[in-house]
Amino acid sequence: MLFIVALDKLRAAPWHRQRLHLILATMRRFSIELADAGYRVDWRVASSMAAGVDAHIAAFAPEQLRVMRSSNRAGASLIARLAQRHGDRIDVVPDDRFLCSAEEFCAWADAHQRRDGSLLMEDFYRWQRRRLGILVDADGEPEGGVWNLDHENRLPPPRDGGTWPESPRSAPDAIDAEIAAFIDDVDGLTLTGAPWDGTWATDRAGALARVHHFIAHGLEGFGPYEDAVVSHHWHLNHSLISPYLNLGLLHPRDVVDAVLDAHRRGALPMNSVEGFIRQIIGWREYIHGVYWWRGADYASENFLDATDPLPPAFRGEPTDMNCVHHVARWVNDYGWTHHIPRLMVLANLATLAGVDPAELLGWMHASFVDGADWVMVPNVIGMGTYADGGAMSTKPYVSGGNYISKMTDFCRGCAFDRSARVGDTACPFTTLYWDFLDRHRERLAGNHRMGRMYANLNRLGDIDEIRTRAVQVRSRLASGTL
Ligand SMILES: Cc1cc2nc3c(=O)[nH]c(=O)nc-3n(C[C@H](O)[C@H](O)[C@H](O)COP(=O)(O)OP(=O)(O)OC[C@H]3O[C@@H](n4cnc5c(N)ncnc54)[C@H](O)[C@@H]3O)c2cc1C
Ligand code: SF4
Repeated sequence: MLFIVALDKLRAAPWHRQRLHLILATMRRFSIELADAGYRVDWRVASSMAAGVDAHIAAFAPEQLRVMRSSNRAGASLIARLAQRHGDRIDVVPDDRFLCSAEEFCAWADAHQRRDGSLLMEDFYRWQRRRLGILVDADGEPEGGVWNLDHENRLPPPRDGGTWPESPRSAPDAIDAEIAAFIDDVDGLTLTGAPWDGTWATDRAGALARVHHFIAHGLEGFGPYEDAVVSHHWHLNHSLISPYLNLGLLHPRDVVDAVLDAHRRGALPMNSVEGFIRQIIGWREYIHGVYWWRGADYASENFLDATDPLPPAFRGEPTDMNCVHHVARWVNDYGWTHHIPRLMVLANLATLAGVDPAELLGWMHASFVDGADWVMVPNVIGMGTYADGGAMSTKPYVSGGNYISKMTDFCRGCAFDRSARVGDTACPFTTLYWDFLDRHRERLAGNHRMGRMYANLNRLGDIDEIRTRAVQVRSRLASGTL
């Protein structure tokens, strides 16, 4: 079994320490498990993946090197180059980390795209439920009579902030010490974020234990508070399992089976069970499929011609925006935040401020423990920033301070006034929201889902002041003085 630590990859981005540690420690532990089970393991540190493969072939002259198809385009082209160089010796097997393969998804998408070329996640989700037999009766109809209980899952945080389950931690051991020392020794790395602290499991047993912990403590309340955010707790009822699914420590089937098993034992509310299953067999698989269905240029789309730099506040520089301050702190401490801070704080602000989507993508990819090209590209370029012009979402996910105020407790402790559009204390989200609609009128006003937003914009009497304040806000965001 061949494991390659490719130094060029380590030096290619300013990786979050926890992200790098998670990947390397997971590889290391797996290599040791395999060696203990009797496999011959070749653990190599090489200048690049290709150099590692060449050196392995020179040392061991294997008849065949079996590799799993990559879930990312860069990995796929690396495998194609290796196959050119080493011919039939490279044997590529399917990627089995998804319930729906890229080919199955593309066939589904070709058959189900709407007249305007768009797809609907809900169509895909129902198709998945039926064909996988998940939460459907013998006639293929949804258990409980409805497919989707999302309307029950939009509660704001409880007034007292609520109490939420604590996440388990792994005690750092000799392997963690070895990996931390290795990372410290490599020349030329740029690292960000807090050091490794056991927040993330790095083996399959640990990942499975996290799933069971979530089912016992988080799943029941997952649905209602799925979109809520509170400043005193970084993950609420979220499962924290995305890095394990993406690295292959967990298969989606492991997660679905464990949840359905708990559901069959009873007492779990259907809106939580259905809501969570939808994330795993719906959203995750849909995002993966869209990545392959859209062309290789998807990552560089920039429909709104956004070119501003990433605000230093995202990287943890001081800011008076309480929401950004907390979310950036979580990214620094854990390399993770849940979906709403990613979408409605980070991506929302980046979109409103006209930040280059490729810069946001690069930063998120390097900073989040669950980052991978296949999942980042549709989430950032499609869902987060509308850089694909609406292929993923029917309208941009943008909002002013009102949405953040409704779904979080951030605004109560903020120097800015979430409902003010102009003036020194106006909430930057609110100013930029109106300015965004105004700047992109030509591109967006014809979108029938945005009719009410434009009707509201047209009623504003202070649009000139908003424009002036927005220029100041964007400049202060870019210079890190907001
Ligand atoms: C701008 C942006 C960037 C994102 N980047 C990533 C990323 O790099 N890696 C990543 O795994 N997810 C990403 N997501 C999706 C989502 O935010 C995370 O999967 C989720 O927050 C992970 O936390 P959790 O495991 O506690 O998820 P839960 O809320 O407990 O949900 C369970 C699982 O559902 C899956 N899931 C739900 N929504 C999505 C989605 N939109 N895309 C893919 N999987 C989904 C994940 O596997 C997740 O573990 C991104 C979302 C946005 C808006
Ligand atoms: S007032 Fe605006 S900047 Fe402050 S926390 Fe609320 S949304 Fe964020």
